[in-house]
Amino acid sequence: SLPLSVKIDLPNGISYNQPTGLFINGEFVKSRQGKTFEVISPSTEEEITHIYEGREDDVNIAVDAAHKAFYSGAWTKIHPKERAKAIYRLAELIEQNAETAASIESLDNGKAIQSARGDVALSVAYLKSVAGFADKIDGRTIDTGDGYFTYTKREPLGVVGQIIPWNFPLLMWAWKVGPALAAGNTIVLKTAESTPLSALYVSQFAKEAGIPNGVLNIVSGFGKIVGNALTSHPKIKKIAFTGSTATGRHIMKAAAESNLKKVTLELGGKSPNIVFDDADLKLTIPNIILGISYNSGEVCCAGSRLYVQEGIYEELISELKTAVEDIKVGNPFEEDTFQGAQTSQNQLDKILSYVKIGKEEGARVVTGGERLGYKGYYIKPTIFADVEENFKVVKEEIFGPVITISKFKTVDEIIAKANDSEYGLAAGIHTTNLSTAIEVSNALEAGTIWINTYNDFDPQTPFGGYKQSGIGREMGTEALDNYTQVKAVRIKT
Ligand code: NAD
Repeated sequence: SLPLSVKIDLPNGISYNQPTGLFINGEFVKSRQGKTFEVISPSTEEEITHIYEGREDDVNIAVDAAHKAFYSGAWTKIHPKERAKAIYRLAELIEQNAETAASIESLDNGKAIQSARGDVALSVAYLKSVAGFADKIDGRTIDTGDGYFTYTKREPLGVVGQIIPWNFPLLMWAWKVGPALAAGNTIVLKTAESTPLSALYVSQFAKEAGIPNGVLNIVSGFGKIVGNALTSHPKIKKIAFTGSTATGRHIMKAAAESNLKKVTLELGGKSPNIVFDDADLKLTIPNIILGISYNSGEVCCAGSRLYVQEGIYEELISELKTAVEDIKVGNPFEEDTFQGAQTSQNQLDKILSYVKIGKEEGARVVTGGERLGYKGYYIKPTIFADVEENFKVVKEEIFGPVITISKFKTVDEIIAKANDSEYGLAAGIHTTNLSTAIEVSNALEAGTIWINTYNDFDPQTPFGGYKQSGIGREMGTEALDNYTQVKAVRIKT
């Protein structure tokens, strides 16, 4: 049967031992039924390894371990400084192995190594930042009038279930695990079936970092099996999910019908990126590219709807075309690759089907519009111009390097168009006029507004969606609110 660790030789010469088991109660174990699944490299379409596949019985064991760890107090009741130290140490251990972690991410997800290095750096920075919150979770005293002393405190929720996607496997692991641990919860996390490797790799450092057994558990496997078992488990108090809006809706229903779990959701987007006539194009063009081609366009907050004011419309399209055609797409392990492979055959097919739809709908193909090569899930960055608001390629999330461009005249017109979406994750504004920037940012219905920048994340800055893009916030102090509950205490004096 499959060993619990396999040696993997990465294309850049790094060799490492990849854990293949489920991470339960502080050790890697085989799944109860011994089933495994194949992990494919999107850049070569070849098998990387098999790993163990969890099922409902494995989820039950992991939840029991997390439940026991929570009630033992070994994590929850220790001095918060000790939790901070362990989370910080975990970050340092990842940092010491940053190049391996980044390479695993490129291998498994297909993303360019330069993006993967950024993900690892942000994961480390986030864990270090959130570690510092552990001893700063406090309450209030409330003056409720004569004869009472009233105060509140924030307590952890218990066992939390976390389900993460494949576009930022390590970063999503860090965004989920960090605040849950800082607040004193215990965790059962499911990775995405197409990108399970990095979370298993970094979780092996938990013990050395000082995180007690059972506090952090990883069950690899499929959404319909492991995901369902987590969302319906009666001992899980909260589900944190990142992925598609359709799955988010399903999870919320399952959470409600089981034990009314608390739910936080980071879902899809179709974010507008708006360029005014007075924008500085030298800064704007790279931001547009970062908005749509970074991480091969597999970004929930991708700036996929580009709106350009009429005075610079054709000029911008022509400059963007040149810049996009300059992007190096291909082998993620080459240093100058900006756009690697899409994560799976499914994603490639989905993106290509939208490209076909865009052409049928009558969009002008400025550049791209086809697959790149025959081996590996590569696609040429695609610009569709002259699109109309009712086109499917304007309305629906494509999740690939496909941008639509249309023209606008006035501020009122662009606010209406930008907000005409079921999503509200992010938006970009490019202008040199501060009043325009403030006016438009106030009017946009989105959780994050980037002005003269794009896809720009910071550990202290909360991230999350308006409308059907989600519920709750990650990062910032807000993330801690989502992993604690308020207890009010009233004392009659
Ligand atoms: P998905 O939402 O189905 O998968 C995300 C995670 O949810 C995975 O870990 C998956 O195993 C799990 N999951 C799936 N079904 C589940 C269920 N019934 N119960 C519990 N967990 C379940 O996304 P996908 O099918 O991999 O991708 C489809 C589309 O979703 C993409 O094309 C993209 O548009 C969107 N997406 C968005 C994000 C984001 O960051 N917001 C991330 C990934 C995908």
